[in-house]
This record gives sequence, structure tokens and C-alpha cells, in this order.
Amino acid sequence: MWAQLSRGLTVLQESPKGFPKDESGESDEAMVVEADLRNMSVLVREEARKGRAVGFVPTMGALHEGHLSLVRRCRAENDLTVVSIFVNPTQFGPNEDLDTYPRTFEADCAALEALGCDVVFAPRAQDMYAADHSTWVIVEGLTEPLCGRYRPGHFRGVTTVVAKLFNIVRPDRAYFGQKDYQQLKVIERMVRDLNFGIEIVPCPTVREPDGLAMSSRNAYLSAEERAVAPALYAALVKAAEAVRAGASGDEVEEMVRRELSAVPAFEVQYVEAVHPETLEPARWAGPPMVIAAAAFLGRTRLIDNVIVES
Ligand code: AMP
Repeated sequence: MWAQLSRGLTVLQESPKGFPKDESGESDEAMVVEADLRNMSVLVREEARKGRAVGFVPTMGALHEGHLSLVRRCRAENDLTVVSIFVNPTQFGPNEDLDTYPRTFEADCAALEALGCDVVFAPRAQDMYAADHSTWVIVEGLTEPLCGRYRPGHFRGVTTVVAKLFNIVRPDRAYFGQKDYQQLKVIERMVRDLNFGIEIVPCPTVREPDGLAMSSRNAYLSAEERAVAPALYAALVKAAEAVRAGASGDEVEEMVRRELSAVPAFEVQYVEAVHPETLEPARWAGPPMVIAAAAFLGRTRLIDNVIVES
């Protein structure tokens, strides 16, 4: 289905079964799949020179409706939509799931083609990271609480790869999900502090009908685990209601822990009520507050959050 052209350039030759060529009907140009870093840069620079706004959605693949909502938004707001698929090794800890992370490249490309995505950037790890790679982007402070406390080095990997991707793609806008709230805030800070001049567009969390936040890692859940998984969001929704009614950060943290302890399969890693911008512990009552939690179901780590605006 994918034709390999010179220097890593690949184009889709035919529309994959089950997907219309383009659901909007606006463009019938074939989607380009590019693995080569230099080709990718040249391609977007030529588009930018023509005055076209470039939108970018970085992903690790195994795409679901959450990712696709970002791509739709990107398409609606830009002339060229670039989606990267790269399972970034530097953001995984030594005991994390880099080797087993779901990889569904053909299906991802088919879904992106159907949405009218223009370019898929799928670099190889050895091209992204030289054997003696030694430069890192570190955002201080914001990376310390929440996931940062339990995943040492994770955000260093995220900010470094996103900075590299930004340098290669040079987008006007980039789209990030609020599902990974801390990541969104860390990227916003990096872009501000390092003057990337890219507009970061936050996108709401897309959920299954029962409330579970969509995640590539949901594929790991057994049927039993999947059945109880929505309890995480249900607990956070209760906490958000309590905050709106004037509850304090401490009270809602305790409330979420209590709710989750009723589901024996959950092993809570953290529940933290924080300020939506500084991510500092919410030592006050009522909004604004973000309540974020991470919990294991078996070996699968789920994260979720609710944003309570003032
Ligand atoms: P990932 O492939 O997990 O690195 O995610 C790529 C992008 O998709 C990130 O900006 C995520 O925050 C976003 N994303 C992942 N899951 C969801 C979801 N359920 N709703 C909205 N955005 C999401």
C-alpha cells in the first residue's frame, strides 16, 4: 500500500479499504509519509514559503479518537496538517513499556489519510538520536509534581523530542491534549521560555461513552480491568463538583482516594489538587483547581484529570 520513494519518502498509492479518500472532500492529494528529517524540513519550508499555515500534531501512534480530534482541529485551523508518529525512547523509564507500546502504523496512516491529513512524519529513532546525543531541554519546577515525581526523566525526554520535532517541522500551531495536562503546561512553558514562536492549542480530553479517557495504553487492559477503569474519571468528576461547592484541595484529594479504595483493583500512585497554571498544591478551597490522578490497574498505568475553572 505504501510506496517507498527515494530518501525515505513514501506516498499512499491507493485508498485503504474501508476509508474514503477524504471525508471532507476538499483535497484529493495523496498523503505523504516521510521518514527523512531533511526531506521533512524541506517539504514544510516550501509550504510555509507559499504562505500556508502549518499545523502540527505530535503523537506516538496507536491512534484513537483523542488523537484524531486534535488532527481534525488542526485541519480546520491550518492549510497544511503534519502529524508525527514517533515512539520516543527517551521519555520511557528503564522499567516502562517502550518495547510493548502498541504500534499500529498501517491503521494509523489509513485513519489519518481518511481525515485529510497532509503529511505523516515517522522518523526512525536512530535518525532522531545520534549515538552520542547529549543535549537535553529541561523545564524546571512544573516537571516536579504529579507524573514528574514518579517518572524521573520522562519530561526531559518529552521536552527534548518536542523541541526537536518543532525545529524540524517549524509549525505555526501545535495541538496537545488536556488528557496529559502536565505535559501541556510543560510544553507551553518551554515554548514561552525558549521563544519558539509557536501557538500551543490545548484540546479537550476525548472519552469513551462510560467516561474512561481514551489512551493508547487502554489496549493493555483485561476485560475485568476495563470494566472498572471508568471509576477513575467518576471519582474525579465527584471531586470537581465538590470543588465547585467550595471544597478544599486536601478534601478532594482525600475524596478521590476514598472513592478509588472502593475498587480493589486500583493501586493509586497519586491524587493531587493543583493550581491550573503553576501546578503548585492547591492549599485553598474552591476554583481554580486541577485534580489529577495516576493509578495502576494491574500493569497498566492510567492518568486522568479534571479542570475546575474559576
Ligand atoms: P500520545 O500519542 O499519547 O503521545 O498523545 C499524543 C497527543 O494526543 C498528546 O497531545 C495527548 O495529550 C493527546 N491525547 C491523547 N489521548 C487523548 C484524549 N483522550 N483526548 C485528547 N487528547 C489526547
